Amino acid sequence: MAVALIVAAGRGERLGAGAPKALAELAGRSLLARSVELMLACQSIDRVVVALPPGAELAAALESASSASAGGAAGVGGAPVAGGDAVAAGAQTRDAGSAVEGGALIAVEGGAVRSESVANALAAAGPGPDDEPVVVHDAARPLATPVLVQRTLDALARDPGLDGAIAAVPVADTVKRVRDGVVVETLDRAELWAVQTPQAFRRAALQRALDVPAEVIAKATDDAWLLERSGGRIAIVPSDSQNLKITDPLDLEWAEFLIARGHAE
Ligand code: C5P
Repeated sequence: MAVALIVAAGRGERLGAGAPKALAELAGRSLLARSVELMLACQSIDRVVVALPPGAELAAALESASSASAGGAAGVGGAPVAGGDAVAAGAQTRDAGSAVEGGALIAVEGGAVRSESVANALAAAGPGPDDEPVVVHDAARPLATPVLVQRTLDALARDPGLDGAIAAVPVADTVKRVRDGVVVETLDRAELWAVQTPQAFRRAALQRALDVPAEVIAKATDDAWLLERSGGRIAIVPSDSQNLKITDPLDLEWAEFLIARGHAE
């Protein structure tokens, strides 16, 4: 079985919602609630750890989910998250037929930067075998599907030589390196992929990669890079552009449109 880490502790200032981005609402449910439900719908995942903004409460963060979907996140208790201590938040009711019985949902305080939030969440997941798969997911990508999560886990399971398997899409635009407003290089688009989450790793490899100085953690825009820099082997799992990252208000509108026209949730 695998553990899922959902990082939701970003401030999301570009969204301009006046609240942490993960708590922004998308078609009646928070971004975080959508990511939690996504992971609970994955049969291979038995634990979900959420890294929340300081002071946030898991129950409140999932509230819109419990009111909008009967049985969805109902029954989630929640104490305020503080001091980096893990807070058990009660068992989730999983969808019949897709859920794994007895899964736990845990909240922990996130860190100052994204990969610090990942490290806090991994620590809160408790002990596990070195080869336990760990899926890291940004709450900012609420339209990821259980099928995509499973594909990353399957890719990792298929090849014992891999340290990670990450969702990505081929880059459609031509990408140039620019310095001081002037193009210095045009990159070969055939080799370029835009990386998303979910990203699945073997637990020991992820733990080693996170066990680096704070200045390295601060530079990481994804966790795969932390493994790559120490020689880790990471495979690409083809995804699609519907797994968009919510950054600004227009992204929310685009995601609402995709849901309205029947995005597979
Ligand atoms: O800021 P950005 O959109 O790149 O964040 C990606 C994900 O990382 C978001 O889901 C955000 O909530 C999370 N994050 C976090 N802790 C931070 C910064 C970002 O959990 N300190």
